[in-house]
Amino acid sequence: MHNRDKLYINGQWVESAGDNLIEVMNAATEDVIGHIPEGTEEDANKAVIAARLAFDAWAATPVAERANFLDKLHAGLKARGDDIARVITAEVGMPFKLSQRIQAGSPIANMALYAKLAREYPFEEKIGNSLVVREPVGVVACITPWNYPLHQVVAKVAPALAAGNTVVLKPSEVAPFSAFILADVAHEAGLPPGVFNLVTGYGPIVGEALVRHAQVDMISFTGSTRAGKRISELAALTVKRVALELGGKSAAVLLDDADFAAAVKGTLGACFLNSGQTCTAHTRMLIPEDRYEEVRQLAIDAAKTFAPGDPMDDRTRLGPLASAAQRDRVRDYIFRGIEEGAELVTGGPEAPKGLDKGYYVQPTVFGRVDPDGTIAQEEIFGPVLSIIGYKDEDDAVRIANNTVYGLAGAVWSKDEARALGVARRMRTGQVDINGAPFNLYAPFGGYRQSGNGRELGRFGLEEFTELKAMQLKPEPAKT
Ligand code: NAD
Repeated sequence: MHNRDKLYINGQWVESAGDNLIEVMNAATEDVIGHIPEGTEEDANKAVIAARLAFDAWAATPVAERANFLDKLHAGLKARGDDIARVITAEVGMPFKLSQRIQAGSPIANMALYAKLAREYPFEEKIGNSLVVREPVGVVACITPWNYPLHQVVAKVAPALAAGNTVVLKPSEVAPFSAFILADVAHEAGLPPGVFNLVTGYGPIVGEALVRHAQVDMISFTGSTRAGKRISELAALTVKRVALELGGKSAAVLLDDADFAAAVKGTLGACFLNSGQTCTAHTRMLIPEDRYEEVRQLAIDAAKTFAPGDPMDDRTRLGPLASAAQRDRVRDYIFRGIEEGAELVTGGPEAPKGLDKGYYVQPTVFGRVDPDGTIAQEEIFGPVLSIIGYKDEDDAVRIANNTVYGLAGAVWSKDEARALGVARRMRTGQVDINGAPFNLYAPFGGYRQSGNGRELGRFGLEEFTELKAMQLKPEPAKT
């Protein structure tokens, strides 16, 4: 059991002001795996004050020293890599082998990357007669979701600390335990009290208290577009800086000269990763309409390799969803797709055979989907792919851009220049060409209702800085 009954505030594990605990479930067995404190507004306020009081000294700490702390956090997380992967597999359902590489591997690598970037990044430059410096924003509240829990935490906390901010973290109540491991590691690393604080609890209570607090300078939020809108409204009252990473409905565009076997396999992989609980999932596969029968068969064959099963079994590629609510929501969308007349190519709303326990959903592919239909427009966050036909390249670009989102996408073509031409026309923050891999150095974030701001790499570091210009009087000309 992972029972955690204290919050991490001002360098100490302290009791919550409230008495309630939140239970955390195992996605595959539906057993309770532990509990965390249900934090209160008072807890949030206490953490903000601790972060405020720690700010001046941390901001004045030389960046090389801050980077040394990040190295220690990296070493601490790395030593607990398998614990992190195991607990996230239990919370979220991602197969353990993948969790080791992605759920643990990615944040561990990212922590090291930010230590390096902090040392290399030019925080000041001369522009004309100005000395332009990047300073920390101040107290940053980081609010994160459950689907890649530690990755999303580190993508905020590492650059925020590197840039000299102090942090209050409110992780998701659905998958909170890796954030506690990070707090353990921060404590062992001797991070000065108040620099990093952890308050768990529900979004509308602890999250909103942080967003409203006048002593918080910035909110860095990843989660649903619904909560992102609410946060923007509340943050406006104190004119806070807000960085939002929200939902997506990303399109993979298969051009007519693509290697269809590789493209369909790659798209299903990018759609079903983490059981579709991925904000960048390629959930719409756009294909030339006269190639539908061929694609349909390839999709059926590829979907067979995603049989749902125990995420601790090394052969499993598709685990359960994170919660009963999430499973029910995804099944409702599958019903909706059928009702709206899409062709159910494979999968369906029934529980997968032989898996009566656990929040499992069948890998599902819909064909001939109306690009304006619900399942083509709304984020499902489950293993559900929509195949949509297009007439020509212009039509493909029009359909790709025809949602409120713009987070990720893909183009597949034998001709890279042609693929890049289409990628440039897509109104989205990232586009993968021919299944190219994720890059932790590249800017990550959305256009339109997928959010604003960018995370990762130097772009993510810059998000957590304010710019100051100091004008210097030019030296009098020598005679
Ligand atoms: P969510 O918005 O319900 O919750 C995210 C976090 O915000 C949680 O910590 C939650 O407690 C908190 N929260 C909820 N309501 C709040 C409020 N009113 N004020 C302050 N905080 C609040 O989302 P979720 O269900 O945890 O995650 C799934 C969603 O996240 C999906 O829509 C997905 O697309 C999105 N997501 C986006 C990205 C990205 O980088 N763009 C990454 C992962 C997930």
